[in-house]
Amino acid sequence: MIGKQNRKYKVNQVIFTEGDPGDCAYLIEYGQVLVYILKDGVEIPLMVLGKGEIFGEMSIIDNSLRSASCRTLTETRLVIVTQEQLLDRIQSADPVVRLLMRALLERLRGQNDSIRGKVSVSNPIISEKLEQDKKEALERIELENRISVGLKNNEFLPFYQPIYDLETQTISGCEALIRWKTPDGKIIAPGVFIDVLEQSSLIHAAGQMMIEKCIADLSKMRNEHSFATDFFVSVNISGRQFADLNFLSHLETVRAKSDLPATHVKLEVTERIMTEGPQAITTLQKCRALDYQIAIDDFGTGFSSLQYLASMPLNDLKIDRSFVSQMMTHEKSLSIVKTLIYMARLLKLNLIAEGIETKEQLFLLRNLGVKQGQGFLFSKPLTYDDFVAAAAGASANSTQKKAA
Ligand code: C2E
Ligand code: CA
Ligand code: CA
Repeated sequence: MIGKQNRKYKVNQVIFTEGDPGDCAYLIEYGQVLVYILKDGVEIPLMVLGKGEIFGEMSIIDNSLRSASCRTLTETRLVIVTQEQLLDRIQSADPVVRLLMRALLERLRGQNDSIRGKVSVSNPIISEKLEQDKKEALERIELENRISVGLKNNEFLPFYQPIYDLETQTISGCEALIRWKTPDGKIIAPGVFIDVLEQSSLIHAAGQMMIEKCIADLSKMRNEHSFATDFFVSVNISGRQFADLNFLSHLETVRAKSDLPATHVKLEVTERIMTEGPQAITTLQKCRALDYQIAIDDFGTGFSSLQYLASMPLNDLKIDRSFVSQMMTHEKSLSIVKTLIYMARLLKLNLIAEGIETKEQLFLLRNLGVKQGQGFLFSKPLTYDDFVAAAAGASANSTQKKAA
């Protein structure tokens, strides 16, 4: 709805009447309104609303006519909330929240009908949407419960993708990527569950598990195998984890137990950390001060702000796979890659290219001065045992190459 103005209403002015089409909702900036229904010509008050409250939203949510009337009780100023503004937000909400909202709406309409002495008849449009929301909410809650049980049963584990020095083609470190190994032996990639984890408090249990397993595995790799002295493991940390007051003490306790220097542990963050509030950034700064390495991941794919690069205590910038995969065919992607490289150099950040799948991509990135990279050209993410075996093979190959 375009063009409807926020406006001031005098006392006792009608805002809408029962049966009107609902084209917007209202937020009360100041003043008071009465929502009422008429029964046999008599006004039956439903509620009095004041500053900061919203009304007129029901018919927008279920696309039906106004089921009550509304007038001002005092001088009132109203801010218009358009249909698009409301529906966009509802659509992007968690399906369980959507279901709650629709259920409450149905109940409220039922109450209004019973005051009128009518029996509620479901609106076919809202019933259809309600069914869809019910289905999505059920799937979501079921997945959340399965993940929660899976975490308790130790079904989640890190896989490791090697990160190569592009010049010497030796392994510099690895990125830990979470996997779910279900009881029937299936390995599930994070695309299926990472959003559910990150949007619920389950991310804390999953994040702690990743830190504990990755640090134990790294310690074992360093003790039992001959990796480079500065070999590191990179762990993805969501903004929500950084905002958790216990995050750093848990990380430090686990690391101290393993006797591993913090500089071997890299924390991968995305720009979304900036939306988690000042606590998350303070924790990030404390991690850096303790010598943990910090990499910015997926830079340039979200709502990037160059300000983030200046305000975050970073060591590395990862060039996203979306740019690497397109840079051979799309001039603009190549320009973005070159700009990121130039910028990283000026900001003294180490670069790691993601998603290298072809030799051409490898040669181009190396020629452009990118020092490190990962991708299916080298290896997919591997179990601990496969990673250690592959790393041993790679180091034998590189020794042979040097000797040849
Ligand atoms: P990411 O951090 O950007 O990780 C890189 C993703 O690209 C991984 O997907 C990896 O398997 C994939 N990849 C690497 N090289 C190539 C390549 O050459 N070609 C293609 N097509 N893909 C490649 P994966 O493992 O499915 O992880 C997806 C995302 O899930 C990660 O993206 C990260 O955002 C998130 N994630 C993974 N593990 C964790 C975790 O422990 N914690 C949190 N918070 N997020 C995680
Ligand atoms: Ca990552
Ligand atoms: Ca990435």
